[in-house]
Amino acid sequence: MRSKRAILGVALWAAGVSLVAVPAHSAGQKDKKKPNDPELCTVCGGDAEQLKAGGIVAHIGFPFGKKGSDTAKVDTHLATLDIKWLETPHFRIGFALGPYKVKLEEKKKFLAELTKLKEAFPKIQPDSGLIDPWLRTHMYAQRCEEIYARFLELADASGAQFSDGSGTWVAGGSYQGEGPFLGMKEKYEVLIVPNEAAHVDFLLDQAGLRIRNTQRWHFVDRGAITVSMHAQQGNLRSDAGLHGHVAFNLAHNLFDGLNHYSYDTPIWIHEGLAHFMEREVDPKNNSFDGGEGAVADMTKKSNWKAEVIKLFTANEAPRMAELMALKNFGEMKLPQHFTTWSMVDFLVQTKPKEFAAFLWALKRNYDAQGIPTGLNLPDWHRTKFKEVLGWSYAEFDTAWREWAEKAYKPGPPKGGEAMPQLPGGLPPPGGGGGGA
Ligand SMILES: [Zn+2]
Repeated sequence: MRSKRAILGVALWAAGVSLVAVPAHSAGQKDKKKPNDPELCTVCGGDAEQLKAGGIVAHIGFPFGKKGSDTAKVDTHLATLDIKWLETPHFRIGFALGPYKVKLEEKKKFLAELTKLKEAFPKIQPDSGLIDPWLRTHMYAQRCEEIYARFLELADASGAQFSDGSGTWVAGGSYQGEGPFLGMKEKYEVLIVPNEAAHVDFLLDQAGLRIRNTQRWHFVDRGAITVSMHAQQGNLRSDAGLHGHVAFNLAHNLFDGLNHYSYDTPIWIHEGLAHFMEREVDPKNNSFDGGEGAVADMTKKSNWKAEVIKLFTANEAPRMAELMALKNFGEMKLPQHFTTWSMVDFLVQTKPKEFAAFLWALKRNYDAQGIPTGLNLPDWHRTKFKEVLGWSYAEFDTAWREWAEKAYKPGPPKGGEAMPQLPGGLPPPGGGGGGA
């Protein structure tokens, strides 16, 4: 079953390659280029000025994955794939999906994103209905940086100072992480491949993992946090589903990376933040962390406000004290997912500054030597919860519920009104549209 699906994926990809055919004159000549050579990029042609204008640091040829690994090694190992590579100020991205046909309901979003991208890359046609793999890769570079910028906003971290990576810092409150990328030594890495087989192959080779679903991984000896995913899960073949899934996983990785990934922070705020950032991108597709990574098909429900109200009505909304008892993502059921999303929503909407300060506080648990430690984190969480947010857990439960019951109350139905009728029962000329 698995190998059959993998073969199907590869076949689809092969069909995609013909759509970004290499110019005929270069075929068979001595300068025969690999299909992911930046000079073949339909967006930038590898043009240094455009890349600089677009904030692209490199188009191929950079470290990726475990120590000693780089884009060339990944290319060689995953030889059946055509991985387009891009390095941005904060990310290293490998993207190996085929072309994408924009759906009618997606046109507006693509138009806006491509218009923005065109500022640096004039060849782009924003109203194009078919997005080739090069353009998709450039779009994901832009999207990852947008997600990063949103995280900076949520964590109020745009002015934060981080270590220059030299490893010298003075103990006691002056810790600034281990490197410049929110505190990590290396940029955040993203690999998106078309099929499960390639994803498993990558993880096995790079991390010794045999994991079929999306996996986030900390390459400790490099100081890089990576996410690998494939499009044969959930709704990841749809662009909106994939975009949201990237946001979901980057939220986890950026929060882990903040002030350096030295220990794990409580499940509720991790998953709540990830849901919140994914649902800002697209509330229709939702990712869920399961026992062994993120699976994307736990529920098709998109109106989580209504689900939270249902939990209140049934008196089944999890309490903060219960959420703090969660040991791993696998223990989360749907009510916990809806609730953690809503709690982060509540904090972002009503106390954005305090929420940001609380995110930081959770990442600043130090031992007597000033070294980050996960020891006594539940106590630290409770203390900072009161100190920064101003609530005990029970007070928070009440405040959140009071807010959510008002904020999520369904408004008057929209679009259900009867069409205005002219005397005589005829609809207005032109069907009621705004005529000139
Ligand atoms: Zn390019």
